[in-house]
Amino acid sequence: MIRAKNRKASIRIYIIPFVIVTLFASIILMVMTNNIKNNFYEIKKEEGHKIARSVSTILSHGIEASTTILELLEDKLENSLKVAQAYSGNYSDEILIELADTLGLDEMYVYNSEGVIEYSNSDKYIGWKPAWNHPVYAFKNGRDDIEIDRIRQGSDSELFYKYGYIKNSDGTMVQIGILAEKVNQLFESTSIQNILDDMARDSSIIRLDALDSSYLITASSDEDLIGYQLNSEEIISDVKNGKIHGRINSIGGEDIYEIFVPFDYEDNNISAFGIQYSLREIQPLIRRNTLNTIYGLVIVYLALILSIIASYKRDKKLVQVAYFDTLTGLPNTESLVNRLNENKYRKNNAIFMIKCANINLINQAYGYEYGDKVLKELGDKIRTIESKDIKLFRFTDDKLVLYLQNYEDEEELFFILKKMEDVLHQPFRINNISQQIIIRIGVIKFNEISQETIDQLLKKATIALGYTDMHKNFNYNFYNEDMESAINREEKIERELRVAINKEDTSIVYLAYQPIVDTKTSEIDGFEALARMSSEELGHVSPAEFIEIAERKQLIIPLSKLILKVACTFIADLTKVGYNNLSVAVNISSIHLIQEDFVNTVLKILEETGANSNQLELELTETIMVENFQLANDRLKELRSNGIRISLDDFGTGYSSFDRLSELSVDTLKIDRHFINNITETRNVSYLTKEIISIAHILGLKTVAEGVESDAQRSYLEENNCDKLQGYLFSKAIPKEEVFILLKKYNGIK
Ligand code: C2E
Ligand code: CA
Ligand code: CA
Repeated sequence: MIRAKNRKASIRIYIIPFVIVTLFASIILMVMTNNIKNNFYEIKKEEGHKIARSVSTILSHGIEASTTILELLEDKLENSLKVAQAYSGNYSDEILIELADTLGLDEMYVYNSEGVIEYSNSDKYIGWKPAWNHPVYAFKNGRDDIEIDRIRQGSDSELFYKYGYIKNSDGTMVQIGILAEKVNQLFESTSIQNILDDMARDSSIIRLDALDSSYLITASSDEDLIGYQLNSEEIISDVKNGKIHGRINSIGGEDIYEIFVPFDYEDNNISAFGIQYSLREIQPLIRRNTLNTIYGLVIVYLALILSIIASYKRDKKLVQVAYFDTLTGLPNTESLVNRLNENKYRKNNAIFMIKCANINLINQAYGYEYGDKVLKELGDKIRTIESKDIKLFRFTDDKLVLYLQNYEDEEELFFILKKMEDVLHQPFRINNISQQIIIRIGVIKFNEISQETIDQLLKKATIALGYTDMHKNFNYNFYNEDMESAINREEKIERELRVAINKEDTSIVYLAYQPIVDTKTSEIDGFEALARMSSEELGHVSPAEFIEIAERKQLIIPLSKLILKVACTFIADLTKVGYNNLSVAVNISSIHLIQEDFVNTVLKILEETGANSNQLELELTETIMVENFQLANDRLKELRSNGIRISLDDFGTGYSSFDRLSELSVDTLKIDRHFINNITETRNVSYLTKEIISIAHILGLKTVAEGVESDAQRSYLEENNCDKLQGYLFSKAIPKEEVFILLKKYNGIK
């Protein structure tokens, strides 16, 4: 028996895929976010490079252009000064205006020897004298005769000028000036601070710094930071080695990415740029990436949930298949075992092993589909008495188990049996056929159980079942220890029967023949073949015992075939010797009779053994009148059409009615021993026996009296025209060899 663990559809196993999927998604999210960031950092470093390069280009180009322009300007000033010198001694405001005009100068002044402006091209500044710290003052007192000043603001002006001065031999002095606003702007624009300011206008750049060789911020788009010292050794070392250093930093709560780009433009004292980028620009990217991952996750979760639902349903179905019987819908044997295991320590349990005893016959008569409906109906009916402590299970094909827990006393058990009898009392109506069900129940009471005794318990219940009376419609039996040894004997008998059948061993199973005497002639009219069994281990076993076992163990058909073969061989032997009108009656189980190939089997055996069909008689009990009447009767008709005669055995013990008997295709009625035993003692019985004989004759049947033991019985039967007699009065069943001696005695020499 399979011992199943409790299997239930569990949701727990699906947690692992959930965790794995979530973990995977988180890792993917992390890796992708990291990639986005790294990519961003790389791009920013690249950008940093470009910025540095463009700064150096701007610087070099700007400086180059300014230098050229300045040189040209200086040349022009120098030449103009020399031209102005030529007018020495002839200066006047008008001349200065004309000269300035032709030379393209913006300002022109002549200082007298005192160093005071005497003439001007603009009418302005006449009488003005430079202070001691003014460049003109420095020139006057200096040694140079000619000088070109750097671009500077006019003394009293916002505008920038390029001035030049020349000394004349008379002590006077000429100053000229060209408005150099554009040149100055050019210079201004190439100043590092301006470049940084311009570039920092890019929205992603938060700040741009220029650092000098001692890593001091010398220019910055945030001028407040000018003068700050960079201290990080790591950054300084990277920059010194020409590497861009990047790091994540935070300013005022905002995350930034900061890079330091080495810079080697020699003319300026700049050794590095610091560029700070806002990380805000990558945030949407990361957010989008996270969202995508979440969408993906949701899809995967949905798919998982759907598959969980699907497989949960499938599991449930599997559980249904594994623990429930599909035919009756009842929980099956595995469920029963589980239930018993669950309640191991409960006291006062009982198992009712319920068997539908005639289900085989029903199956064979109406087909398995019909039989299944009978079983289902049986289950449905018994189910109505289920309660918290009473549960019904399907055990094997033809058995159900009612499991009762916590019963109070034995009376409760009888009460349940009574309830079952009540619900099963009404005949079953299936496909409009009313069916009498024969129920046998084996009951076993038990207290605590241990694992290994579950099998034993169920076996014991089955044993008790085996001890019920076959002839009642509802019968039960309680298990007791004696049954166990009986069961062992039964198993031994079964084993021996199998050997006899498989080896056709007629030393184990053989036939004895009891004569049947004709009342009129007192001669032997025929024999009844009675099966005998004996073995070394068991000694003699009565046919009542082993035939019943063979029927239960489904051995009756092969056994019956073997018996028929031996009996037919005996017929052939009788014929050979000349007894060609003696009949031999063979007992046949109803189970065998209703086999589809029964008639063919008999005919085949007759042919094989060379026996005459007219000498073969088959004895059947009246149970066939109750079960499957129509089918059995059809079989009988077929047999009789082949010359085989039919006897109805044990007449009067069952449910037979003369009504039915008139329809049944038989030749002979065998009146049961019970009637014969009592004919001389009980008036009623003797009256009944007489009646049976006369009615049988009215129906055209011959009568055989069984168990005739006394002369009184014989006389009575003779008086009442019983056709044939069988019993110990004449002879017990004897072996084949003795038959011939007996025949000589009764029938004379043939
Ligand atoms: P049965 O068919 O009614 O057989 C008659 C039984 O009555 C035989 O018992 C026989 O020995 C016994 N008997 C005969 N005369 C007397 C008598 O004067 N007094 C008493 N007390 N008994 C008498 P047996 O041989 O023990 O057989 C018992 C039953 O076993 C048979 O009852 C029959 O139902 C069954 N049986 C025997 N052989 C076979 C067989 O080959 N096939 C089948 N299916 N059943 C068989
Ligand atoms: Ca018989
Ligand atoms: Ca009989």
